[in-house]
Amino acid sequence: MLCKTCASENLQKLAGELTASFLEVKRSNLPPLYECQDVLVCLDCGFAEIVIPAPELELLKRRKAASGS
Ligand SMILES: [Zn+2]
Repeated sequence: MLCKTCASENLQKLAGELTASFLEVKRSNLPPLYECQDVLVCLDCGFAEIVIPAPELELLKRRKAASGS
């Protein structure tokens, strides 16, 4: 597997913790999503990838819909 940004092979999987919040002011009152997932990090350019599991994706969609589109 190669880095999607710089094509380096110097990738490292790390145990990650992520807190993600909507950026829009109208959604600033929504609780942040807290996620513990493996993160694939390029040790050459810093590009990182994480996959949000389906249940958490559904939660994000419901919060977005409930706060207006
Ligand atoms: Zn890279």
